Amino acid sequence: MKIENPPKFIADCHLGKLTKYLRIMGFDTLYFNTIDDNDLIELANSEDRIILTRDKGLHERTKAPTFYLDAIDNLKQLQELQREFGIKDYSLVPRCIVCNTELQKVQKSDIEAQLPPKVKKYFSEFEICPTCKRIYWHGDHYKRMIATIDSI
Ligand SMILES: [Zn+2]
Repeated sequence: MKIENPPKFIADCHLGKLTKYLRIMGFDTLYFNTIDDNDLIELANSEDRIILTRDKGLHERTKAPTFYLDAIDNLKQLQELQREFGIKDYSLVPRCIVCNTELQKVQKSDIEAQLPPKVKKYFSEFEICPTCKRIYWHGDHYKRMIATIDSI
């Protein structure tokens, strides 16, 4: 499994769901609800990021590195990224789906007070985002996303 030099991405504003998958897989992926094309291109160039886009116009008119996604379906998009970048061959630290920060393992006893009762009862492994303090556990939603990633 590769951990060195994973590609860094910047997803255009139609790719919010794909961004979450890439962050769970540990890829440094920027995403903005709205961003001007020029700012997107400038960020990509200055931070050495690949622009992911479904906008053919943007893909064709910029000299910044872009990757055009043909599919609309998330799994198919991930498969396109697998073919181009081998994303599944990397083993990276998962990132916060909200703010893109690498997650850290956390002891249950340290965060117990913040957990919903059912989560407290049924889950024992947790991760926390050091930036936005969001707590992660491997519930149904997470498992569905992992199942999708596994099936790439
Ligand atoms: Zn966060």
